Formats: sequence, C-alpha cells, structure tokens
Amino acid sequence: MRKITVAKGDGIGPEIMDATLDIILAAGAQLEIEEIEVGEKVYLSGHSTGISKEAWDVIRRNKIFLKGPITTPQGGGYKSLNVTMRKFLGLYANIRPCVSLYPFIKTKHPEMDTVIVRENEEDLYAGIEHQQTDEIVQCLKLISRPGCEKIVRYAFEYAKQYGRKKVTCFTKDNIMKQTDGLFHKVFDEIALEYPEIENEHWIIDIGAAKMADTPEAFDVIVTPNLYGDVLSDIAAQITGSVGLAGSSNIGEGCAMFEAIHGSAPTIAGQNIANPSGLLQGALMMLNHIGQTEVAERVQNAWLKTIEDGIHTFDIYKEGTSKQKVGTREFAQAVIANLGQSPAQLKAVSYPKSNGFTLPKYQRKPAAKKELVGVDLFVHWNDRDPNELARVLQQIEDETLKLTMITNRGIKVWPEGFEETFCTDHWRCRFEPSNSNGVDKQHIVQLLSQAIGKNIDTIKTENLYVFDGKPAFSLGQGQ
Ligand code: NAD
Repeated sequence: MRKITVAKGDGIGPEIMDATLDIILAAGAQLEIEEIEVGEKVYLSGHSTGISKEAWDVIRRNKIFLKGPITTPQGGGYKSLNVTMRKFLGLYANIRPCVSLYPFIKTKHPEMDTVIVRENEEDLYAGIEHQQTDEIVQCLKLISRPGCEKIVRYAFEYAKQYGRKKVTCFTKDNIMKQTDGLFHKVFDEIALEYPEIENEHWIIDIGAAKMADTPEAFDVIVTPNLYGDVLSDIAAQITGSVGLAGSSNIGEGCAMFEAIHGSAPTIAGQNIANPSGLLQGALMMLNHIGQTEVAERVQNAWLKTIEDGIHTFDIYKEGTSKQKVGTREFAQAVIANLGQSPAQLKAVSYPKSNGFTLPKYQRKPAAKKELVGVDLFVHWNDRDPNELARVLQQIEDETLKLTMITNRGIKVWPEGFEETFCTDHWRCRFEPSNSNGVDKQHIVQLLSQAIGKNIDTIKTENLYVFDGKPAFSLGQGQ
C-alpha cells in the first residue's frame, strides 16, 4: 500500500479525479489516499500561493502527489501554484508523452509517438525581471550546469527504461552561445555515456517546424524550460487532442502528476469532461511507484474503450465514434474493459523495474577564474553613441579603457552604422589599458568616476575568463 496525496482541484477537477481514482482502484492500485485542498478556495481565503502550510506538510511527507487542475484567479497578485510547486519541491523534469490514437482520434500524424522532456525550474522562468531605463525591460535567463546535467541524464535514463531509440536536444545555441550553449555541451557530454541510444541536436526553430510536420522523426526530445513549454503543447495538440495527455513533474524527493489541461470552468459540474488526461497522469504515477502491472491493465482497457468508440463529447466524431458518454459512464466503460486489450491500437507493456535513480549531482572542481574587464550598463537619452563614447572616455584611467559600446547587443561604437536604431540602454565595455590586468577595486573606482560625471549607471556585469576561455558574449558585429 502506497500513501499518496490527492488534490481534486477546481472546475472539472473533482469529477475527473473521482473518475480517475475509480478506474485505478478498480484495477487494483494499492493506494492510501490523503486528500488536501489547493487552488481557488485557498487563494480566495487569503493564501496568495493557493496552498496552506498544512497542505505543504502533507505533500512533502507523502512525496507522491496526484493533482487535479487548478483555477488561478485573474488579477490580485495571485501566483501560479504550478510554478511555485515545481520550484519549491525541486521538480526539475516535466515529462509529456504525446501519442496518436489514429484512426480512433482524428490526427494528421497517425504515426506520432514522442515524449517531451522539459527542464522545469530554470531558464527565463527564474522570473528575475527589471526595468532600469524608460525604454527597456529585461528578464534574466539562468541555465545551470546541475540543471542541465539532471534533465539530460533524466532524458537518457527515460529512453533506456522505456526502450526508446533516440534522444534529440533542441536549443538555440547559434544565438545564445553561453546559456543554450551550456545545455547543448552538457547534452553532448552525457550522450557519450549512452552509446546504445542515438542522439542528435536541432536548432529549436527548424526542429519545432520539423516536429509539427513530421513528428514521427522524433522519439524523446529534451529541451530547456521555455522551448519545452511551447513545444509540449504543440506536440500534445497535433496528436489530435490536448485533452488526452498527462504529465509528470519529477524531483529528487517528490513527484507530481496531472493532466496537461486546465480546470475548464465552463463545463464544470455537468458530468461531460473527459477524464483521460488526468488518468494518463495517474498511470505515470503508478509506473513511477512501481505499480506497473496496474498501469498496464488500465492503459490497455482505456485504449480498448477509445477503440470501441465510447467517447466523451470533446473527442466524439460522427462516423468514428459509436457512443457519446459522460465522465462517469466513460470511467465505467474503462472499468468494464479491465483485463482486455485493444485489437488495433498497440497494447502497452511497461518495464517492470521500479523507476530509476539518477546519481546525485557532483560539483566539478572550481575553474581558474580571471577578471578581464567590466560591462557598464548606462541609461543615456542622447541617441548618438559617439557622444556617449566621448563622455565615457573622460572616466577612463590607467587601468581601464572603453573598448566597445553596444545597444541591444549590436556594436554601435567604434565604427557603428548610422542606420542602427538605438534605445536609451547602452552596454559600455571597459577592458584593461595595460598588461597588469584589472581587479574589483578598479571597477569600484570606475563606477565612482561615472557617478561623479552624472552618468546614470544602472548595473555592471563583470567579464571573466574561465580556464582561459572567455565567458561573455561579444558585441554583434564585433
Ligand atoms: P483549459 O484547459 O481549462 O480549457 C481549454 C479548453 O479545453 C476549454 O474549451 C475546455 O472546456 C476544454 N477542456 C479542458 N479540459 C477538458 C476535458 N478534460 N474534457 C473536455 N474538455 C476540456 O484552459 P483555460 O480555459 O485556458 O484555463 C482555465 C483555468 O485553468 C484557468 O484558471 C487556468 O489558469 C487554469 N489552468 C490550470 C492548469 C493546471 O492546473 N495544470 C493548466 C492550464 C490552465
């Protein structure tokens, strides 16, 4: 018997959760359920996170969490509970299998069977944003080596466990050479540990186009957070229905399982919602906790029910469907099919091993880190970079001299183009004037001189070389 936490959630949540639990318990799932309240009621009672401290304690104690969809109230500074949970509980991997059920569910991609493994904690979702000039806002993109190693290793282990043949990495490292560059580099390093699994890398834009056109070319896809967010919805949608997909959020200690759709408030309480997405999430949970035979029984009964043409309204189509049923009746049909397998769709058989454990991240020895300059970011209203350079050259001294100015990343001084549009946000690069190098005290002096000249310095970024390799971007055109 395994104790799990269940939250029914909002909108259609209670109906689809009841249907899901009825099915998996009827199939023999060995679960002891501890129910908590999260979501709309909790938000409206004054918890801006949508969850109480007591509920957190239950989730952390039981470690396995099956969650119904949650309504995030509009406005009022409410935080998305999903994002909060992923980060607090360290749920670094978001797994979304997207498989076509052709000809029973209409799709342009009958052969599709792709799993998206999305990094779940980092990237632009760190949510660190600032406005420091009138015209520019910024968001910090954070990619860590531990984050990359964990998600890439998870993707390869998943492929190994489920007999997948290939792992594809999607990044945009031709543009973001540091951040996406690190993700790609770690992918190449870890791929070497799995010689039996094919690996490849695609630039995300053409990769996404290929996936939307020929999804059968991909098996497991691993990608950073934002790309994975967009891509996984596209992948689920092109199987024929976003409403049929489940997802797991896996951490080192805890794991959360859910449907990928939301709380669908307009159809709530009518016994018409499709419970399949949440059921798929629940089956991922059963596989995760080692109850694979139950998961298999349910999935095969579910495939047979879809094949029998017993469909909820969202997937019901004259011609292919036979009977339009409600949430409860659909669940009863799946229960009646337990023990049976589909005739035409491929019956599933899950690996019997009890999940997989990734090695704990081992911090690498520190690199030799050398300070080689500083980027001074300046709020400056005159659009002429030559005038800004003239002013900045007044604060140069015997240690640091101005070597470049960029605007939105493009070099505008020395020798910029007059056609380049300039905003009020400038990156001004200072590098050592002589071979004695630079230390932090020199940067403090530079800042102090800038303040003395009334230059509105909004931030600095130090320029470092790690083990002899420059670790900062050049100006475009430099
Ligand atoms: P939604 O997924 O709830 O609904 C989109 C459309 O799909 C609607 O037409 C809906 O009726 C339909 N639909 C969704 N699930 C269905 C099901 N099981 N059966 C039949 N039809 C279904 O997305 P939305 O309308 O953008 O969001 C509604 C609320 O859900 C919002 O408050 C949003 O913040 C929340 N949401 C929560 C989650 C989550 O908890 N994981 C995810 C997405 C959205």
